[in-house]
Formats: sequence, structure tokens, C-alpha cells
Amino acid sequence: MRAVDVIVKKRDGGELSQAEIDFFVQGLTSGEIPDYQAAAWLMAIYFEGMTARETTHLTLAMAHSGDVLDLSDTVPLAVDKHSTGGVGDKVTLVVEPLVASAGVPVGKMSGRGLSFSGGTIDKLESIPGYRADLSVEEFKQVLRDVGTSIIGQTASLAPADKKLYALRDVTATVESVPLLASSIMSKKLAEGSDALVLDVKCGDGAFMKDLDGALMLADSMVAIGTQAGVRTEAFITDMDAPLGTSVGNSLEIVESIETLKGNGVRDLVDVLMRLASRMVVLAGVEAGNDAAKARVESALSSGRALETFRRMIAAHGGNARVVDDYSLLPSAPGRKTFKAPRAGYVSRMAAEAIGRASHALGAGRAQVRDPVDHGVGIIVFARPGDRVREGQPLFEVHHRDGRGLDEAVALCARAAAIDDAPPAPRPKVLGEAR
Ligand code: URA
Repeated sequence: MRAVDVIVKKRDGGELSQAEIDFFVQGLTSGEIPDYQAAAWLMAIYFEGMTARETTHLTLAMAHSGDVLDLSDTVPLAVDKHSTGGVGDKVTLVVEPLVASAGVPVGKMSGRGLSFSGGTIDKLESIPGYRADLSVEEFKQVLRDVGTSIIGQTASLAPADKKLYALRDVTATVESVPLLASSIMSKKLAEGSDALVLDVKCGDGAFMKDLDGALMLADSMVAIGTQAGVRTEAFITDMDAPLGTSVGNSLEIVESIETLKGNGVRDLVDVLMRLASRMVVLAGVEAGNDAAKARVESALSSGRALETFRRMIAAHGGNARVVDDYSLLPSAPGRKTFKAPRAGYVSRMAAEAIGRASHALGAGRAQVRDPVDHGVGIIVFARPGDRVREGQPLFEVHHRDGRGLDEAVALCARAAAIDDAPPAPRPKVLGEAR
């Protein structure tokens, strides 16, 4: 078999066999198939799509491209959550310590920034000393000691996805249902998840812009999980406007800590309570949503969730004093305030443009090996429905020496719209799939 023939078949709209997909994924993992052929294959998949059968084969091939973890010696039941990616999406950073402190140990392998969306690992690495590259044994030990651990994708777990994920980021091939579904589900299968709550983002700042696309992605992942014996549920949550008030690596760490201190904004708290409660139910610790929610609320209000986050940082070698002293986190010295050009109601706060603005400042990567700037980002002061005065600050742009500033400000100007009447309210949870 030759890689070029597999690319041609997909380019021309053919259905790849399991043997062809296995061949490509194995070649990619071993390095025999070079990045430029993998990039061409991705683009062919982006345009031609994949059938449900192909998507399942791709998921399984990537899940088995490396080790498959067994957490049965570490946790009673491996419950996990995963987001499809958004702007200002710091849900994992809060949900993991929250659920752990509610009595459900949760370990998670997270990703780096993808296109205009942020990545949990880039955010965590803004904490001085935080090691996201723990070995599997270290990960298990932290999970036993603290109840939660968030690591990056290890070299040995789903290495094919690791390669494709990085290539998709820089080849404009992220927004494809089979590529998103197989990327996420391959990691969850390789991580040995028994139960899974998916947060499928939908709207301007998500890879799925409309509800139909988000439902298709949710259904695809639920079907893959169910076939593989993982109890899988998905929530479709709104990502038209950024989630919470900050976008950018260390700025989102600050907001996550504030949320764990009980000062989270409503849109973020609504989403994370819903997901956390479902994780508690799937773990079998509570039978119903109301009891699970009460358990999670008590973990938050008692401060236990914050303490768990502090202990997780320390267990990963990070400076846990950041929880009390945000000046220990990287920051960018430049500030530019963007003000409301007129009075009225905020009718749009388009998340993708704000994500791209943060990226332009240096928070994301243009090429695979680019470093990220952990200090830059954007504080978003207003959300859709808010009434604003002319001249009231809408954004505070944190930049370093003006890098990307003009582009970021232009993108912020495009992101915000102000009208005379308030917009129709949009619920935060738009649907579910089971
Ligand atoms: N998260 C992943 O792990 N993969 C994607 O493709 C998107 C979000």
C-alpha cells in the first residue's frame, strides 16, 4: 500500500477501508508517512468527510497507536470530561478539582490550543513550575493522593492523535466532524475511561457554528463511545460569546481560581455545575441530578475544591502560592482599553474574533513549534444583554510590546455590537445527546 493512493482515494470521495486507515495511522505514528502527506490526507478528509464506519476505524486506530491506560488500580471508576474547544473555556480547570473534592477522583489528559481556541495545558503551564508531562505512574500517584491530575498527552498515549492534532492546528483542518470526534474519542479510549461527559461547544466561538453541526458531532462521539463500551453523554453548550470574562492563558488561570473561590460569573458557573453534577451521577456516587448538584455546590462553597486545585498544582511541581498571589503568574505589561462607541445593549460579543485577537497577541501558535506567550490575552467586561454607556470599557487587551495589538483591537471592534434593544436571551445549555 502507498500513502499517496490512500490520499487519492479520499480526495476523490471514496470510503477508506479499515486496512487503509490502519496503514495510514501506523505510518504516521512510526514516521514513515511524512507530515506533508498527513497534511494532504487531513485536507482530503476535511473536504470529503468520513462515514460513521471510517470515523470509528480512525478513532480505534489512533486509540491503539500507543499504550492504553488501565486506571482500575487507581480509581473505582474512570469518569472523564472533554470539551470540543472554545474561547475562554476554562471549565476543565474548575470542574476537575470540583468533582474530585465532591468525592469522585478524576484524572484528565488535556490538549494545547487549537486554532482560535485555547488549550488547558497551555493555560496550566502558565503556573510557574507546573509539569504537564508526568509519567503515567506519576499521574496515577497524583490521582491517588489528590483526587485529580491534569496532564498533557503523553508520548505513549494516542501518539497518532498527538501528531494529527498539532498538524490540524496549523493546516486549517480543525473544523471537521470526523477529525474532531476521532481526536477526542481516541484519547478517551486510550485513557481507559469508563464513563464520559462531553461538552460540545456550539456557536461563533466553537468549531461547530450551528446546532445541527453540534448535534452531529455529539451523536458521532456518543455512538463511538457506546460502541466501545464507555457510558457517554454529551451536552451542547453555548459558545457564541466567550465563556466567563477572560481569554488568554494566565488570565484564565486567575478566573478559574476566582471561580473556585466562589466568585465565578453565572454563564461559566451554570455550565460547570451541569457537567460536574452529571459526572457525579455517572460515577455512581449520587443517583439523581439534584443530589449530585447539592454535593458539588457544597464542595465549592466549603472551599474544598479550591484546596484540591492548590494541592494538584503542588503535586505537579507548580508554585501553589499563585492561588493567593496572582502576581506570581506571567503577565504582559501593555494595556489597551477598548471602549463602547455608543450607548445601548450589547447584542453580540463574537467569541471567534476574540479568540483570534488573543491568538494574534501571541497566546496561540501559528506553527507547530511556536512558543506561546502565557501573559497576553483579553478581559471581556460586557456580555450579550448588558446595557452599556458610551465610553464604557468593553475589553482590556493585555499585550507585550504591541505585538499583534493592531490586529487584536480590530478584531475586538468587529466582535462587539451594540443595539437599541436587548438581544433574545440564549440558554447556556442548548441540548443533550445520550
Ligand atoms: N479537543 C481534542 O482533543 N481534539 C479536538 O480535535 C478538539 C478538541
